[in-house]
Amino acid sequence: MRKLTGLSIPLHRVKTEKHSQYKGVIGVVSDFLTPPAGKVDPRRQALRFANANHELFKLPEPAMSKSAAPEPVAEIQPEHVARSPVGYHVQLQQSYEGIPIYGSQAIVHMTKDRSIYFYTSDLYPEAPPVEMGKSGLLTAEQALEALATVLPWKGRLDREPHAEQVYLPHEDTMHLAWCIDLSLAAQAPIMDGQDRSSDWRALVDAESGAVLELLDVTLYAYSWGRVFYPNPVVELRQESLAWDAPIPASAYRKLRLARLDGSGFLCGPYADTAQTPSRVQQTDGQFIFERSQSGFLEVMAYYHVDQVVAWVRRQGFGDLFSTTPPLSINVRAPLGDNSKFLPKSWALQFGAGKVMDAEDASIILHELGHAIQEAQVPDWATAKRNSPVRAMGEGFGDWLATLFFAEKRRAFHPTYVGDWDARGYATPRTYLRRVDTDKTMANWKNEEHADGEIWSAALWDLYLKLGGDSDSAATRLQARGTAAKLVLTSHLYLSDGRRDTLTYAHGLDALLTADRFTGPDPTQPGVHEQMIRDVFAKRGITV
Ligand SMILES: [Zn+2]
Repeated sequence: MRKLTGLSIPLHRVKTEKHSQYKGVIGVVSDFLTPPAGKVDPRRQALRFANANHELFKLPEPAMSKSAAPEPVAEIQPEHVARSPVGYHVQLQQSYEGIPIYGSQAIVHMTKDRSIYFYTSDLYPEAPPVEMGKSGLLTAEQALEALATVLPWKGRLDREPHAEQVYLPHEDTMHLAWCIDLSLAAQAPIMDGQDRSSDWRALVDAESGAVLELLDVTLYAYSWGRVFYPNPVVELRQESLAWDAPIPASAYRKLRLARLDGSGFLCGPYADTAQTPSRVQQTDGQFIFERSQSGFLEVMAYYHVDQVVAWVRRQGFGDLFSTTPPLSINVRAPLGDNSKFLPKSWALQFGAGKVMDAEDASIILHELGHAIQEAQVPDWATAKRNSPVRAMGEGFGDWLATLFFAEKRRAFHPTYVGDWDARGYATPRTYLRRVDTDKTMANWKNEEHADGEIWSAALWDLYLKLGGDSDSAATRLQARGTAAKLVLTSHLYLSDGRRDTLTYAHGLDALLTADRFTGPDPTQPGVHEQMIRDVFAKRGITV
C-alpha cells in the first residue's frame, strides 16, 4: 500500500481498474492511503479528494464550479454517508444543472481519521449535450400515463408515486427522463406473481414517453411463522403437560413459511386457509403468534401441510398436488372435537376442543394423509364406510403423522398420534391412537379407525425393519424415505374399481409390486420382499 503525502493520487504508483463502461475513465483506485485529516466532515473530505483528482475522475476543474461561470458544469455533491467499523463511505452524486445523472455516482472510502484508501466510480465521463431540447417535455403526469401501457398501475397505487427528472445515459446517448417510483397494492384475487404487492422503478423518456427501463425493486423477504413441531408435549417432552398449562416460548419454533403467494394471507400452492372465518392477513409476511392468538392455528395448518406435501414430492412424487387447487382449510370448523377431509370440496376442516385440533400437527398430518391418498387415487374416500380400504386410509394417515416426525419423536412418544389433542378430551388421554399396537387381523372390529391400527402397525414395523430402528440418523432418514416411497407407490396399484372389495391382502400385494418396480430389476422379486411379507404376516396378513 502506498502512503501518500496529499490527496492527489499518482496514478502510476497505485492500483487502478478502468471503468467497465466508459473508455478513458477510472473505475476503481486502491492500494493507497492519504494522510489523516482529523475531525473534518467526511463529506467535505470526499469532495476535497474528488477535486484534487478531477482530471482523473473526468470532473470539471474545481475553480470553475466556484466562479460565477455562465456555462453550466457537471458537478458532484455528497449524497449519502454510510458508517462502518472502518470509518466512512461517502457517496457522491453527479448532476448537471441541478438534474441528477441517473446511476452516476462515486464512493470515497475513508478511515475514522479520514485517511482515504479506496475509490470506486460510476461517474459519467462527459457533460450532457447542452443543446438537449427542453421544450415540449412531458410532465410527470404524462410520463405516468405513458408508463401505464407497460405497467398497468391504475387502480392499484398504494401511495402517491414519486417522480424526479434525471439525465439517463442510455444506449450511448443521454436522455432527459422521469425517474418514477411507485408501489402497487396486491390485486385480488392473486392469480400469479404479477398480482402481488410490489415496488417498481421506471425511467420514462421525457421527450418521447418511451419506457427506457422498468425494474421490479421489491425485495421479497422471507415469511416466518411460529408453530408447534409437532406439538408442545413432544417439544417439551413433558408427559404431565395439561391442556391449560402455560406454554413456554421454548415449546414453539419459528420456521420459514414457504411458497406463500404474497397476498398476506396464508395461501400457497398446496394449502390455503381461505375457509377459516376472519382469516389472518399479514402483509409483511410475519406470522408470529401464540396459541392464544387466532392466527396461530392457521399458521400450523399452512406450515405443516405445505412442508409435508413438499417432502412427499421430493420422495419421487413430483406432481403431487400439481393439478389440484390448494387444500382449502378451516381451522375453526364447527365440528366439535373432530376433524375431517372433504374430498369433493377439496377441504380440510379442523374442529375445536380444549386443545384445538390444528394445535397438534399429528392431527393435521392425519387429515392430510387422506388428501394425499385422494390425490393419488381419485375416489379413495368414497369406498364403503368401515371397508378395509377406508381402514387402510386411517392407518396410513396415522403412520404418515408418526413417520414424518420420527426423528423429532425419537425416544419420546415415537408412535403416538394426537398426544397433545388428547389432553383436551372430556376425559384427558395420553394419545388418540398409536401405530405400534399388537393388533392382528384377529382383532378386526369393522370400525375403520380401530382397524386402521392393524395397518399402521404393519407399516410402522416396515419402517423400523428398513432401518428406522438404527442408531445411525442417516440410516433412519433413508429408511423414512424408502418407506414413504414404497407405501405411496403401493396406493397407485389400488386405484381400480375394486375399491369396495379390496382387502388388506390386496394392500400387501400392492406393496410387493411397489417394491419390485422401485427396485433395480422388476423381473426379479423386490429387494425387500421377505421383509415386507414378514411384517405383514405378523399381523395375520398374507398373500
Ligand atoms: Zn381419518
